[in-house]
Amino acid sequence: MEPASDSNWSPPPNKGMRRVSQLFLFPLPMEGERREEAKEEIPQIWKGISEREWNDWRWQLRHRITSFEQLREIIELTPEEIEGIKHSKGRLALAVTPYFASLMDPVNANCPIRRQAVPRIEEVHLSKSEMVDPLGEDKHSPVPGLVHRYPDRVLLLVTDQCAVYCRYCTRRRLVGSNERSITEGNFEEVLKYLKSHRKVRDVLISGGDPLLLENERLEEILSRLRALPHIEILRIGTRVPVTLPQRITGGLVRMLKKYHPLMISIHFTHPKEITESVRRACNELADAGLPLGSQTVLLKGINDKPHIMKKLVQELLKIRVRPYYIYQCDLVMGTGHFRTSIAAGIQIMEKLRGHTTGYAVPTYVVDTPGGGGKIPLQPDYVVSKGNGKIVLRNYEGKIFEYPEPNIIEFKKTRSNGEEKAVPKKVMA
Ligand code: SF4
Repeated sequence: MEPASDSNWSPPPNKGMRRVSQLFLFPLPMEGERREEAKEEIPQIWKGISEREWNDWRWQLRHRITSFEQLREIIELTPEEIEGIKHSKGRLALAVTPYFASLMDPVNANCPIRRQAVPRIEEVHLSKSEMVDPLGEDKHSPVPGLVHRYPDRVLLLVTDQCAVYCRYCTRRRLVGSNERSITEGNFEEVLKYLKSHRKVRDVLISGGDPLLLENERLEEILSRLRALPHIEILRIGTRVPVTLPQRITGGLVRMLKKYHPLMISIHFTHPKEITESVRRACNELADAGLPLGSQTVLLKGINDKPHIMKKLVQELLKIRVRPYYIYQCDLVMGTGHFRTSIAAGIQIMEKLRGHTTGYAVPTYVVDTPGGGGKIPLQPDYVVSKGNGKIVLRNYEGKIFEYPEPNIIEFKKTRSNGEEKAVPKKVMA
């Protein structure tokens, strides 16, 4: 079978595209700043737009592709996609930014960008093991918009809107239906809950995509959370730097950097997503001192080959994004066609550890069905243990022995009126 995705992808010569080397896909620079050249191709249907419009994240959001008619102007839809789009109504919405659509291969339905964003008929095929809420978030939600699953950290869902709806989304039960943000009333309830739960030291702000909120609204949320003395760390989970990099403006970055320590977890999936615009967006965030990590869902036919994942993690390090997690695909309704075996994930880890920079090696996790939390998985490097030694294998399969230290425990005794410490037993 033809490889589903190609890490050395380059835009195909296509009648529907035009080269726009003079378009600047970035916010216009301040005087004296260097301006970078655009590399993306803009589909023909937007040929009349100005540079300023294309670079305007609000323009991109307003012009998202949400229908079969718009999509067929950009790509040659397959019967599976046409049926998938028909059936997506009332399920997970279809929405793709013009920018993300510009990365799609118009003729190859196995294009990794296209597979992530365009519904397919397989979404209506359900299996018994799939769930509406696979991580049990709803049952761990003490107030609307808040999930409290671990003792010291919470998940705050501030909007149900995303720039692009990923067809494998774990929160497909929530996202895309109303495209609304958390109400003032709900946010006050969240704050009240947090004030009475002082063990919580870490808030992950997610959704939907928090970076789709206007700066003022997002700042209000960040500042009020930051004002709680027991909240040490704030995190934002987002896919916007990948699907709508135009949103990473100077104004947004200046606002975010006021709320350190603030970490940004960016959802990347495939090396093809790392364009000049994405590089620019990540550079701006990193220059503001915001630690950047990546989260990647392991997806069949998209990134489930070791060479693709290796290319992705290495490219991420180059743009100062630390590969953080690879997730086994959750058991979400209608996503069976994206699921790989656990063995495929472990095989990928086998090909990363020792074969590339340690910083580039993420943790592979299964987020356990029902809300048991993340469990890390990796190849087994322990061949045997016992008799005072542990036998290990390295990334090349070579065998090494490591002698365990003798651990001596002491116990207190009293003899002739004096207290002494004597060895109790030797542990090996
Ligand atoms: S960006 Fe995240 S929340 Fe939004 S559709 Fe994709 S996976 Fe779901």
